[in-house]
Amino acid sequence: MMLIVTHVFKPLNLGTLYNDKFHRYKLRLAAMKKANKLSDTDLCVMCGMCLPQCPTYQLYQTETESPRGRVALMQAINQQKININSKALLHIDHCLGCLNCETICPSRVPYGQLIDEFRNQYNQSVRKPWLTKLILKQAAKPDGLHALTSIINKPVLKQLIKLGSTFTDLPKNTLTVEPTHLKSFYAGTYNSQEECRGEVSLFTGCIGKSSDYRSIKDATFILNQLGFDVNIPEQQTCCGAMHQHNGQLETAKTLLNKNRAQLEQQKSSVILFFSPACGASLKQAENIAIKDARTFILEALRHQPLNFSTQKQPVALHESCSHRNMLRLKTLNTELLNCIPGIQIIESSDPSLCCGAGGLQSINYPQQAQALLQGKLKSFDLMQTNIFISDNIGCSLHIKTAITGYNPDIKVMHPISYLASQLISNEKK
Ligand code: SF4
Ligand code: SF4
Repeated sequence: MMLIVTHVFKPLNLGTLYNDKFHRYKLRLAAMKKANKLSDTDLCVMCGMCLPQCPTYQLYQTETESPRGRVALMQAINQQKININSKALLHIDHCLGCLNCETICPSRVPYGQLIDEFRNQYNQSVRKPWLTKLILKQAAKPDGLHALTSIINKPVLKQLIKLGSTFTDLPKNTLTVEPTHLKSFYAGTYNSQEECRGEVSLFTGCIGKSSDYRSIKDATFILNQLGFDVNIPEQQTCCGAMHQHNGQLETAKTLLNKNRAQLEQQKSSVILFFSPACGASLKQAENIAIKDARTFILEALRHQPLNFSTQKQPVALHESCSHRNMLRLKTLNTELLNCIPGIQIIESSDPSLCCGAGGLQSINYPQQAQALLQGKLKSFDLMQTNIFISDNIGCSLHIKTAITGYNPDIKVMHPISYLASQLISNEKK
């Protein structure tokens, strides 16, 4: 009798029935969400608060070049209310990914995710310059961008690039590379001569070895002075940020996984990054103990202050959009620079204005990028200083294409490099 009761009532167990239904509902919802990742465009209430914050809206003064306009276009294309057309795609593709709009939006529209996803789905319809395609391809290989910049450094190819630039509106020195003799300082472990306080690894990414070489060398020097051994792993690849923002989400994911696998093998307790754009991208990977090199150095200096020479000349400070809107480390650069006695910082009169680099937008849309850069440079009083501090390699390379027009003697430096240049030490370079 008992057996019959169990047999009859088992299928009517309401708990199981509810759980099964709920589970199926959850699976269906997840599948729908996956199938339509652009549905978050519906969150936009069209309030327009983001418009004055948007650099492209400021430049073009049209709704289609604003965050609200782009959200509406993405929504209309996604819901097939309008046909995909090159004009609409171009307006959306002009976006710099600065995320000024996301920080002000009261509806919390996840604009950064939306634009990346939209580009991933529709970017095959947008024509990209040959140089963008080449950079993305090379950056996906270990040391690939380093190889590319080394080749570009050859005189014949430099001439060809200059010639190519004439046809593509690219500024002549778009791919600035460090002199080759500096390249002997690279992968390996650099031990501190001080009492050892631990070991850190440096994430140099794809371009660091060639074009941000100075920052790596200066960070190693200052970390050694603070008592840390520095390990620079070999064969590093791009963090994936450039691919993520140029419609190649799968490649970006693969690169993130490769970096995670490589960085997990390091015996150091922490991995430091220099570029806020790389940092924002690496932070998406779980289980990697990564930290901004500036934060780490600032914390170490609080425990063990070093001597810096007193400054009489002010310095200009440009903070990248990735620093402000992705990492949101508001006061970090000024706190770090304030370790130097007497420092005076010249700020931009419009700090939230993007310099126009926007990942590879300086190559994709050079005229737009240069127009924004001119606006940004004019927002500083550059005749007061010969030092321009910029925290992100992408911005720095772009800024170098025009800054000497405002002050021929000015030097563009990473904040850590500037700090290292002011350190009073017996071992100073
Ligand atoms: S990310 Fe920047 S450029 Fe793009 S829509 Fe938002 S504010 Fe404008
Ligand atoms: S601020 Fe947000 S909700 Fe308002 S228009 Fe812009 S994206 Fe839409």
